[in-house]
Amino acid sequence: MTELELMEELGRGNYGTVKKVLHRPTNTVMAMKEIRLELEESKLNAIIMELDILHRAVAPEIVEFYGAFFIESCVYYCMEYMDAGSLDRLCGAGVPDPVLARITHAMVRGLHFLKDDLQIIHRDVKPTNVLVNRKGEVKLCDFGVSGQLEKSLAKTNIGCQSYMAPERIQGESQNNLGTYTVASDVWSLGLSMIEMALGKYPYPPETYANVFAQLTAIVHGPPPELPPGYSQETEDFVALCLRKDPAQRPTYAELLEQPFLVNDKSREVDMVGWVANAIEHRDTHRTVSSSQTDAPPAVAN
Ligand code: ATP
Ligand code: MG
Repeated sequence: MTELELMEELGRGNYGTVKKVLHRPTNTVMAMKEIRLELEESKLNAIIMELDILHRAVAPEIVEFYGAFFIESCVYYCMEYMDAGSLDRLCGAGVPDPVLARITHAMVRGLHFLKDDLQIIHRDVKPTNVLVNRKGEVKLCDFGVSGQLEKSLAKTNIGCQSYMAPERIQGESQNNLGTYTVASDVWSLGLSMIEMALGKYPYPPETYANVFAQLTAIVHGPPPELPPGYSQETEDFVALCLRKDPAQRPTYAELLEQPFLVNDKSREVDMVGWVANAIEHRDTHRTVSSSQTDAPPAVAN
């Protein structure tokens, strides 16, 4: 731990805090996630061992994993620092079509790699788990590799923003675990795309009386749609991802063949420019509600 110099806080999630750190021996800036778990040492050890598979998750669309360890009852997880942060805070009032295509392309490639090369289903696809850097790279993080870790994290996040597919929301209520397939991640991908296009979560909590009503809308209502202004290819792609019946959703290989992503290949998209702009917009329009990332730098130890 003395090898790590704590820098500022990057953000907070339901389960822990992410801080920027400097790994002194290699002079590498990293992001370190701290997850507090009240577990016995053998279970913590099991988690660290399960996380080891992340060393094999090396791809341009996956946030690099540096290592994990535990101290007392906290698991620490070190990964590549992404200097533009997560997508949820970069989308302003919505991203333009070509940028949406480029980001989605990276997400689908990353998910396809995880599934085909490592037999990993992400299980937590959402804009806060898509990280961006100033080079314009888009990478996935926080995918489920440790069964033990997943079991230990309290199921508290049926929160106000659910990216869960309808079949999963229903499955949970029937206590029907183990039904998770890639199709559920494809739904979450579609929902994330709508959020990027709208600049906000598509089932806004304030329009529902309670979380139950909101989840009912996801399960029984029509799937959400893109705002006007996107191409037919984009609309078609999102509609495929958001089919209510999971068996009708395409695989990643099929998604990669869709005109929306095929057209992206031959297009020039200034991602570096978009990221720079998005950061500037984010930092000049800081609101009180986003102040959780404004904590003063932590004292180095
Ligand atoms: P949840 O707890 O529901 O998964 P979350 O994804 O927002 O929500 P964390 O994974 O703890 O929670 O991450 C908190 C925030 O830290 C993210 O929203 C992101 O902005 C920031 N963050 C996480 N990892 C990195 C990283 N590698 N580089 C830069 N910022 C990061
Ligand atoms: Mg996360």
